[in-house]
Amino acid sequence: MEKKTNRKCEYETVVNGLNHEKYTEIFDTDRKEKENGFKWCLHCNRAYLIGNFRYNKHDLDETVAMLCPYDDCDGDYWMDGWGWSDIAHSNDYPSIPETGKIYSLYPEK
Ligand SMILES: [Zn+2]
Repeated sequence: MEKKTNRKCEYETVVNGLNHEKYTEIFDTDRKEKENGFKWCLHCNRAYLIGNFRYNKHDLDETVAMLCPYDDCDGDYWMDGWGWSDIAHSNDYPSIPETGKIYSLYPEK
């Protein structure tokens, strides 16, 4: 019989964590991304500063999952975090997005 393990989840939100162990242990992120300043989440359509993310503190010996920093979102930092500059450019959004504001990918005009 398969044993069910209850994986504990306790999330830690990291702000400005470009030098955080969870960030640097993945690999050296491309510098271009850092220069863009912000990322945009495909799941919740909100923007956040590069280096802000969440991770499960009990994930230590597994592949590190880094999540969107908004705690009601389970978007992935790497897969779902798109460069803000591209989104902003195609939609006439400001170069510095507002925290928590929803910027849809295809806004109604
Ligand atoms: Zn998100």
